[in-house]
Amino acid sequence: MNIAENIPTHLFFSKYAHKLERNGIFAYFHALRMKPVFISAEMESTIEMIRLSKDARNVIASITNPSYQESVVSAISALIENKVITKNPDVDKKVITHFRSSIPPAYTQIAYFILTENCNFGCSYCFVKRDGETRSGARVMSPETAIKGLELFCKLVAMDKGRFEEEKNIIFYGGEPLLNITVLQIISKKVREYKSCGKLPQDTRLSIVTNGSLLTEDNIDLLSSNNVAIGISLDGDECATNSCRAYTGGGPVYHDIIKGIERCKAKNIPFSLSVTLTEQSVKNFNSTLSELKQIGSNALGFNILLTDEQFRVFEGYNEAAADCILTGFEEFRRNGVYEDRMMRKLKSFAESRVYLFDCGAAGASQIVVAPDGDLGICHGFLGSRENFPTNVDNMDFDPSTDPTFLEWRKRTPLNMPDCENCMALGICGGGCPLNALKNTGSIWGLDERFCVHSIKTLQWLVWDLFAQVTKSGN
Ligand code: SF4
Ligand code: SF4
Repeated sequence: MNIAENIPTHLFFSKYAHKLERNGIFAYFHALRMKPVFISAEMESTIEMIRLSKDARNVIASITNPSYQESVVSAISALIENKVITKNPDVDKKVITHFRSSIPPAYTQIAYFILTENCNFGCSYCFVKRDGETRSGARVMSPETAIKGLELFCKLVAMDKGRFEEEKNIIFYGGEPLLNITVLQIISKKVREYKSCGKLPQDTRLSIVTNGSLLTEDNIDLLSSNNVAIGISLDGDECATNSCRAYTGGGPVYHDIIKGIERCKAKNIPFSLSVTLTEQSVKNFNSTLSELKQIGSNALGFNILLTDEQFRVFEGYNEAAADCILTGFEEFRRNGVYEDRMMRKLKSFAESRVYLFDCGAAGASQIVVAPDGDLGICHGFLGSRENFPTNVDNMDFDPSTDPTFLEWRKRTPLNMPDCENCMALGICGGGCPLNALKNTGSIWGLDERFCVHSIKTLQWLVWDLFAQVTKSGN
């Protein structure tokens, strides 16, 4: 029997096929299927010979060592099974069409309530502040605006009956949202009512992103009694945190943030940390890590700085920040704490499920309610109010027909020509459209700082899988 009889004569490498090498081991994978096939250097030369040849069977037949010939056939079978090699050059078109058709319609699942644009901190990297303040409207949300915003959210959530019960998130944001805790209480109370009468799904979650300095005993109790999950922004140790953040009137903030954290811990209230990787926290990442470990939050997420003409970072910052995220992930997973951004990519890779969007604005699954009632897609445009197409008085608003939401809904690497040949296409999600816009003039441009993170993460995932496979002997 001809050992190669099941191998087609003509084999085609998918345009989504990629190859990585480390220490003489090669990993072939399809960027959208994400199932790497690991082979030796010798096998890689044979596979590349087959890639160049017009007749795969002929190359296999010319191999004189029967056991090696058998290994080549099984390697090719694995590459076919995992879509790296196809039998037909048209398969790629079908694959991308299939994935594009799986992009869901715009459906609201997240609402940011910007309770106030005021803040007691003046952080140099704050993208809300950098967007400028060109308006004269209210800077603090009134109860009336909050209720209207919530009513509109309920209406949007009810637009797709089939997805109504899916998790929904209401995020209190600012400025510093604790400066308007009265409205936070009003919304939280209404959400409880709406959950019990079925106007909002049971799995509607509340959370706050706070700078931590106003986490007094009373405020913590109030957040806890309203089931508001606490997220605190901290940039690492004292030096890193104070390097970019200070009170608006001047003065360091670190110790006041830590006091808020300590109060949460004393009350056994879980909290997560949102860690912006400043230049300082990246440069002294060992110190950043030990600070974060010592604090011992229940969850954490790293943020890479958003840059634009007004805010630049040192050469090599993106690479260094991406490495920090990987190191942090390795370190924290030992203690069962999984860094949020990495976890999303890991899940996508492990489940071979294409990760379409890295934020709720891309994909148009979120709304942002400004303090004066304007309604937009991304809080990064609060100052200029670009991409804020309507307001909370417009109860007929429909994201699935609004041009802004329609465009952002499609903003995934699957639809971006610059991403077509990227090895991280399946796990990326495309980063931040706002950053892309600020740096390239279009939300369809690349968020390059994120590309570095995505590609490094993909490589890390491939070799982490190899280490696991080798360890388990499979
Ligand atoms: S576009 Fe950028 S700033 Fe806006 S919500 Fe998404 S990640 Fe955040
Ligand atoms: S955004 Fe960058 S990393 Fe992500 S898929 Fe596109 S090119 Fe690749």
